[in-house]
Amino acid sequence: MCYNRAPSRRSFATLLAAGAGMTALAACTPDNRLASPTAAPSASGLPTPTPTMATTTAVPSAASDPPPSSAPPSKAPPSGVLSQQFSLSDPTSRWVIVNKHRPLTPLEFVPPDLVQPRVQLAVSGEASMLNSTTAGAAEKLFAAAASAGVTMTLASGYRSFQTQTATYNGYVDTRGQASADTASARPGFSEHQTGWAFDIGDGGGACSFEPCFADQPAAVWAKANAYKYGFVVRYPWMLNEITGYYYEPWHLRYIGVEAATDMAKRGIGTLEEYFGLEAAPGYP
Ligand SMILES: [Zn+2]
Repeated sequence: MCYNRAPSRRSFATLLAAGAGMTALAACTPDNRLASPTAAPSASGLPTPTPTMATTTAVPSAASDPPPSSAPPSKAPPSGVLSQQFSLSDPTSRWVIVNKHRPLTPLEFVPPDLVQPRVQLAVSGEASMLNSTTAGAAEKLFAAAASAGVTMTLASGYRSFQTQTATYNGYVDTRGQASADTASARPGFSEHQTGWAFDIGDGGGACSFEPCFADQPAAVWAKANAYKYGFVVRYPWMLNEITGYYYEPWHLRYIGVEAATDMAKRGIGTLEEYFGLEAAPGYP
């Protein structure tokens, strides 16, 4: 099901200003994930990762309960206090972990419940879609931001396997695979394909998908408050050797309020650490 929502005049303007979807489509890649020492805002609400969590070496997670080496666990016991556990492998699970070691299964997965959230959109088409659970949570997140006087836009949501393939192959054709891997996730390896993740903008675009976005009100507010609505900043500052991606203050991932709050309280920066999975700095 889809919401048949006519974009507001402002979102049309934003859409035009953003040059439609390609800006967001090509973004959220390592080319735009260049870390900048000045782009790291101090913690504003959320605990900072503990020193053991802030490692930048490519060692496996030091979190407790490492998975069996033979296969990833289907469920994780991150704290023993959460009321519900979810699969880490099923792409319809809010805890599915997709990184450079863990492609989607099936590789061409399509969320069965894509909808367009009722939020300020900076994109159209598939990129304006999220799975229904994430869309509902995003509406609460965006409304709370607006109540705090913070403008937040949906800059890039769902991205199909086919779109990711076209994007990735375009890089391979022009730059070769090694360079392509620094510029685009391989098809089947993008969290955007799950429907559980999206990128935010601030309606202005000056720092869209750039390190300086970390200092914009939308990113500052999201970093401090997103967990209350079930989201984590998926690729935190200086944890790229664990996540495989440089800091993306715009990329939010839904895991549910309980788990996101637990992560925030415990100061755990990455889903890999939280769920006791190995670091995924690059493709095997
Ligand atoms: Zn993203």
